[in-house]
Amino acid sequence: MITPEEEPLAQLKPMPEDWQRALAVVAHPDDLEYGCAAAIANWTDAGREVAYALVTRGEAGIDTLAPEECGPLREREQRTGAAVVGVETVEFMDHRDGVIEYGPALRRDIAAAIRRHRPELLITLNYQDTWGGLYWNTPDHVAVGRATLDAAADAGNRWIFPELAEQGLEPWGGVRWVAVAGSARPTHAVDARPGIDRAVRSLLEHRTYIEALTDEDPETYCRSFLTRNIEASADRFGKVPAVPFEVFSR
Ligand SMILES: [Zn+2]
Repeated sequence: MITPEEEPLAQLKPMPEDWQRALAVVAHPDDLEYGCAAAIANWTDAGREVAYALVTRGEAGIDTLAPEECGPLREREQRTGAAVVGVETVEFMDHRDGVIEYGPALRRDIAAAIRRHRPELLITLNYQDTWGGLYWNTPDHVAVGRATLDAAADAGNRWIFPELAEQGLEPWGGVRWVAVAGSARPTHAVDARPGIDRAVRSLLEHRTYIEALTDEDPETYCRSFLTRNIEASADRFGKVPAVPFEVFSR
């Protein structure tokens, strides 16, 4: 019997291109910069609109900074990091970092963001227990990833969260794909080469976080982390360094 791990690695398909608006929903500042900013740079270059919705401000992410100081600082770093890859709209939902709960409140907040932005493509981060192998994921990523996959449908249903329509947010059933960055089971990919330099700069904008994380020179750290990741996918994408996604069609 062949387990999934032993199957020959299938080639990743190119990401769908027939869309105009995307919304990325993740738990923390830096999730998109670690996960898929090179792909986002490609898309904004092509004239597509991409907005970010962050569930927290990442205020529990730096051991040496108290949350009330850390939250506003990480919000600023996230806004500049987004601007580097052509993203001007960055929203924060103000759930508490580290203890995001999967449930109706989270689904409703994400469904509201989907109705505001009316994306055809939703982007989120790995919702699985691990990053592959034995690298355990965080509960915030799991909750937000799953809730985003669920909210793609919630946003189109008038009756699950009727209070949203009362606030003027009419149902939006137009999400055609949900693309999960950082998944251990990718299906699609985007050529990372045109966007990689901006992806490095956008990750580098999270300077306070990175300086607290590593003694390495921040730029060397960002470039080697992202380069390693995109090269790891090249064998499955015609030798092209790539940002992989697990894509759910709707
Ligand atoms: Zn995170």
